[in-house]
Amino acid sequence: MNTQESPLAQWGILKNTKRPVVIAGPCSAETADQVLETARGLKEIGVEIFRAGIWKPRTRPNSFEGVGSVGLEWLKLVKSEVGMLTATEVANVKHVYEALRAGVDILWVGARTSANPFAMQEVADALKGVDIPVLVKNPVNPDVELWIGAVERILNAGLTKVGAIHRGFSSFEKTRYRNVPQWQLPIEFRRRMPEIPMICDPSHISGCTELLQEVSQKALDLNFDGLIIESHRNPKEAWSDAKQQLTPADLGKLLSSLVLRDVELTPSQLESLDDLRLKIDKCDADLLKTLGARMKIAEQIGQYKKEHNITILQPTRWDSIINKMVEKGAEYNLSADFLSKVFKAIHQESINKQSEIMNNN
Ligand code: PEP
Ligand code: MN
Repeated sequence: MNTQESPLAQWGILKNTKRPVVIAGPCSAETADQVLETARGLKEIGVEIFRAGIWKPRTRPNSFEGVGSVGLEWLKLVKSEVGMLTATEVANVKHVYEALRAGVDILWVGARTSANPFAMQEVADALKGVDIPVLVKNPVNPDVELWIGAVERILNAGLTKVGAIHRGFSSFEKTRYRNVPQWQLPIEFRRRMPEIPMICDPSHISGCTELLQEVSQKALDLNFDGLIIESHRNPKEAWSDAKQQLTPADLGKLLSSLVLRDVELTPSQLESLDDLRLKIDKCDADLLKTLGARMKIAEQIGQYKKEHNITILQPTRWDSIINKMVEKGAEYNLSADFLSKVFKAIHQESINKQSEIMNNN
């Protein structure tokens, strides 16, 4: 791996300050033995921060809801006996107070909690006056405002070591992921809050071990600052999320397979890219001009339809445009999905313009 300073280094708690920071540990703390054995395995592969859920927000009742406060005693042992930093999930005032009292080093807020502004505010209020690092997972639904709002509540409580965790979004449709990554959302989050470190949770995105490597690499290629990955001494026997956990040894292999690409470009790379970027800018300018010209014609059509009292939408004409474009697009190596999205957006804009004209006396 390449050497780059992690923004989490500024939090002053890490020994290894290089990107990517890795947080690992079981989905849930189950027994003292399971916690300590897993932690020792992780320490051995160089992981500094140990995660374990003590209070587990489960989708259905009557599944394992975490061992509760006794697990905090085991996290204390991870600190004192294994020498790792510890992290756990908090979802209410009681969790916050107990975790702080037990000396947990990093708190995270789960996806079901960040989706709920009342719960977020309760957690934020409970944290006033301490400056513990807090990581806020994206809400279960793909709403970047809600995610930003959750982070703002923690910041407004006066905390300064705040990060975000991208764990994917639930969807009704069956996909290859457990939670669809929708990478454009963490990218938009970073555009809006560039100072907040972004950590990827490939475990809850993937839901299985097969996708972990691909998702982790993609996160690094998107310049994420770290990874939080579930690891269990014996994944098959895990009391929660068994399918997505790796042994510490397998996690070690995964981590060493990841490539950290350069963020800083050399002058000659910059020059080559500048060349291509100029060409892209020119294409974009041409696209804009063409779109503008197309919209002008759509407006003339709107005027004509108004004068002759014809409805805006002629569905058969529209179907034939999309089909033609999709067919032609194949020649340019453009996918049907992409083209139908682009042309639907263009069509919608034409309809908006035409209905403005038709309803404007
Ligand atoms: C977890 O980290 O084990 C967890 C419950 O995650 P999420 O809140 O992302 O579902
Ligand atoms: Mn889990």
